[in-house]
Amino acid sequence: MCIFCRIAAGELPASVVYEDEHAMAFLDIQPINPGHVLVIPKKHAKLLVDLPPEDAGHMMRVAQIVDRALRASELRCEGVNLFLADGRVAGQDVDHVHLHIFPRYDDDGFSLHIDEEMRKPPGRAQLDESAKMIVDAMDGLE
Ligand SMILES: [Zn+2]
Repeated sequence: MCIFCRIAAGELPASVVYEDEHAMAFLDIQPINPGHVLVIPKKHAKLLVDLPPEDAGHMMRVAQIVDRALRASELRCEGVNLFLADGRVAGQDVDHVHLHIFPRYDDDGFSLHIDEEMRKPPGRAQLDESAKMIVDAMDGLE
């Protein structure tokens, strides 16, 4: 069983902030900021695409509850980031889908490094070409 399945089963300790039949939310043991929460589906799935759509939707509903609570709490929270690393190359460190939610505030030291070169607008033709590839792939989905 993976580490998050073991937390969901109550075999490993966690600082739980939310739990229902299908999902659980607990504090990340390596928080970016105080109040950094992970939302997981209780059923094991590696990737977001492996989750039944209702479980994916439920994960976002729980995220919204956590987001509201962070903003209402005494934790420093002037904004919130949601982050889901879907796959190892995307930064996924535990092979059980999980959504990071963490409070943000001025000068908290967190930033995403993005090269200026990556942010150069590619032009409409290339955008349309990428859009066509995605739409074509959608047509082939079940
Ligand atoms: Zn698992």
